Amino acid sequence: MNLLHITAECYPVAKVGGLADVAGALPKYQNELGIQSRVIMPFYNNTFTQNSEFEKIYHSRLTLGNNQLDFNILKLADNSLGFDLFCVDVPELLYKDYVYSFDDTERFLAFQIATLDWVLTFEDKPDVIHTHDHHTGLISFMISQSFKYETLKNIPTVLTIHNAQYQGWFPHNKVYLIPQFNFDNVGLLDWDGSINPLASAIKCSWKVTTVSPSYMEELKLKANGLEHLLNAESAKCVGILNGIDWKVWNPETDNFIIKNYTTKNLISGKKENKDWLCKTYNLDNTKPLFVFIGRLVHEKGADLFSDIFNIALEKTDISILLLGSGEKENENSLKPLLDLPNFNAHIGYDEKLSHIIYAGADFLLMPSRVEPCGLNQMYSLRYGTVPVVNAIGGLKDTVIDIKENGFGICHDGVTTEKVTEAISRATDFYQNKEEFSKNSEKITKIDHSWNNSAQEYLTLYKSLKQ
Ligand code: ADP
Repeated sequence: MNLLHITAECYPVAKVGGLADVAGALPKYQNELGIQSRVIMPFYNNTFTQNSEFEKIYHSRLTLGNNQLDFNILKLADNSLGFDLFCVDVPELLYKDYVYSFDDTERFLAFQIATLDWVLTFEDKPDVIHTHDHHTGLISFMISQSFKYETLKNIPTVLTIHNAQYQGWFPHNKVYLIPQFNFDNVGLLDWDGSINPLASAIKCSWKVTTVSPSYMEELKLKANGLEHLLNAESAKCVGILNGIDWKVWNPETDNFIIKNYTTKNLISGKKENKDWLCKTYNLDNTKPLFVFIGRLVHEKGADLFSDIFNIALEKTDISILLLGSGEKENENSLKPLLDLPNFNAHIGYDEKLSHIIYAGADFLLMPSRVEPCGLNQMYSLRYGTVPVVNAIGGLKDTVIDIKENGFGICHDGVTTEKVTEAISRATDFYQNKEEFSKNSEKITKIDHSWNNSAQEYLTLYKSLKQ
């Protein structure tokens, strides 16, 4: 089987969030299963692309509305990623030092059109095209409707929704940017009066997946306006839980962390990482260390962090370290907390530091209001760090509360009261050192590697064979 993933992000080439982790890991595991899985993404201007060798394998000119744009398809010269990586180089639109921006409609349309123009030239067409989120949401529409892609019409398409909050809306007066199609079918692009690439992909893809089973069920009730559509299309929808890349996220071999460890020396290994964090961030290493890593946005509960942390630090004897960036209001709300002795924050994005934090923390906080899958809790389990989560989406599918013979702390809903209560329950759990250590050792063995999920995707692709 020959599969093509089309994505805006892919780790380690360009990462904003979990989409990159999935696009960088799933293809690797698919290749191991015998699927020839390839990835195509935009060619951005970043450290990875500057320091890697790419071969130009195709050159052409694409039409975007009234504009003609030259583009190249570049192939990563080595096979260090475990799959073939191709990039679409449209210098004036895509070669930027960021992934997302205000002109994403034009940028990602150019990317999608270039990709399909290139696929048109294949002798062996892909058996399946797998798209991810709204940035590649118009692929399935163009394949099924645009006259120029008529010969691709029988290629099955799969859409994976990593986050339904963002849908890529743009007004109908930009419809001329999409390669010509029978205008009777313009409704396939529309949702609620605008062109909605995510809605269009839900309508036009052969199968739709979400990154966890619970998230699929939740979207049928609340999906930023798409709930009716998901109910109507439910026959082709399925939730498949993401995995994590066990080769990258492995405390035994992780080059980023201060001290590598296995289950056998977990307690002392974690302690060295914690000591480094506490020394670097001026925190007391004798207290349980609670951490947060992620985007400081409403979805992650970040608007409540200032209240939550203030109360938790007052009521419980803990240290808190945060790594993240996002909405300015949320970032600013944390500033007064920096004067407190048991709190520190690193505002920004730092991959290396995130690994050390997963390794050195005692508890990882995830009071998310929306969490399609969530990777952080799976990384934290792998590193023996206890997740404290709101039981929603993928968090509900991966964390069981200690009260139910599980291994984590769950709360039901996101309010300051509920989260601080969960923190206090976690602190009590920490006091029983023997049980806490046993639990930390146990959670490192929970298997969230991609093996199972890659197999589920394979079964899904096979069901599409005509
Ligand atoms: P989302 O995609 O909604 O942001 P996920 O849990 O699916 O959330 O994935 C988040 C990924 O991004 C994880 O790999 C996490 O470690 C990483 N991450 C988020 N914020 C930061 C940051 N500030 N620095 C380093 N890594 C981060």
